[in-house]
Amino acid sequence: MTCTLLTGGFGYIGSHTAAILAENKQKFIILDNFINCKRDVVARLETITNQNIRFYEVDVRETESLIKIINENKVSSVIHFAALKSVSDSLMRPLDYYEVNVKGTISLLQAMKCTGLKRFLFSSTAAVYGEPDFCPIDEKHKLNPLNPYAQTKIIIEKILEDISKADREWSIACLRYFNPIGAHNSGLIGDDPLSVENSNLMPEMIKVVTGSKNYLNVFGDDYETSDGTGVRDYIHIMDLSKAHVTALDYINKNNGINFFNIGTGEGVSVLELIKTFEKVSGLSIPIKISNRREGDCAVCFANPKKANDILKWKSNYDLYKMCNSAWEFVKSNKI
Ligand code: UDP
Repeated sequence: MTCTLLTGGFGYIGSHTAAILAENKQKFIILDNFINCKRDVVARLETITNQNIRFYEVDVRETESLIKIINENKVSSVIHFAALKSVSDSLMRPLDYYEVNVKGTISLLQAMKCTGLKRFLFSSTAAVYGEPDFCPIDEKHKLNPLNPYAQTKIIIEKILEDISKADREWSIACLRYFNPIGAHNSGLIGDDPLSVENSNLMPEMIKVVTGSKNYLNVFGDDYETSDGTGVRDYIHIMDLSKAHVTALDYINKNNGINFFNIGTGEGVSVLELIKTFEKVSGLSIPIKISNRREGDCAVCFANPKKANDILKWKSNYDLYKMCNSAWEFVKSNKI
């Protein structure tokens, strides 16, 4: 039986992907250093999956430990989620982002090289496109990193391209995520990071709903969009996680390297997301219009056709269901 190693498997996307793998009876192990997730996620995931999770508290930069873990578990593929992921944080401490994201991935790839492992699924981001020249964005759109976080992801994509060129036996897929929101339907896992300065829109909205913030800052209402606020492609976490399971199947069967945009293809404005959340929760969310946030683009949404066609993957959740799922997570955790 094949075994997949999930680095950062207790994080937001990793844990939901693990839940689907377990449901499909696919074997996996998790590696995490618990730097940005709560420890009770282990027990929560065990409840969801009804199994003991085999995991290692190890940092991806510890190459020797990785080699041991890969050999011990006869790992056959890797999904690499482990990374620092805050755009604003990366502007303040770029070196840490290069250290953890780039050096961490190199360490993992070295461990894979030592053990003859050649199947790799990489967590990339729509941030690689920066301010897009056109929307919907396809994978051929030029890359234009606006911050160190995006730059680290591009560097890793380039490393992977070179590896694939040098050795055609490698099978690699890079999934460029748009904006994941929502939670597992059990209400046990969701977007629940340790770091408090997570400034993504949905977690910020939840802070207002749960009383830890008085109002939501809307960063700019003077963009050239229908209501002046920024437009993004929000995708449900289970849809995004399913894309990993589908891509894993794809790399198990096909060599070479591929890049996939993982989004719904629908652009949604900040105000639209707020209104939908208000509708599902029955609450009103006080907002304050503030200045544009540095480095933000006006509009960013995916053309997911390549993933639709090649991976045979498609998103299912609409905006209402996404907001409802985020709201259910809030309610079941009383945060
Ligand atoms: N946004 C906002 N207030 C917040 C956080 C985000 O108005 O407190 C806006 C932001 O300007 C962007 C959209 O919400 O238009 C999505 O931002 P997020 O940080 O969630 O994702 P990203 O910028 O990476 O697309």
